[in-house]
Amino acid sequence: MLYNSSEWKKVRRMVIIRDNGFDLGHMEHPIKGQIYIHHLEPITVDDILRRNGKIFDLENLISVSFNTHNVIHYGVESKNLFPDQMERRENDTCPWKQ
Ligand SMILES: [Zn+2]
Repeated sequence: MLYNSSEWKKVRRMVIIRDNGFDLGHMEHPIKGQIYIHHLEPITVDDILRRNGKIFDLENLISVSFNTHNVIHYGVESKNLFPDQMERRENDTCPWKQ
């Protein structure tokens, strides 16, 4: 229900425009194919029912590719995610906060 709501579709569009179609906001990794919107802080059904603000919070959302989304949720080793970008930096999960 959430992902079919006009509110979600509007927020989704804003995230895609902000992230410019880049995987996790990395300029070297444009997303080919379907763009997924990932919640950095995971949401639960309860959050949805209570309309928790983090559902639509742009700070909690990031564009990812299908592959990256699987890696995040199903735990392929992170070195396989961006093998050329192993170094972690402050805010590297929130690239727009540089
Ligand atoms: Zn996700």
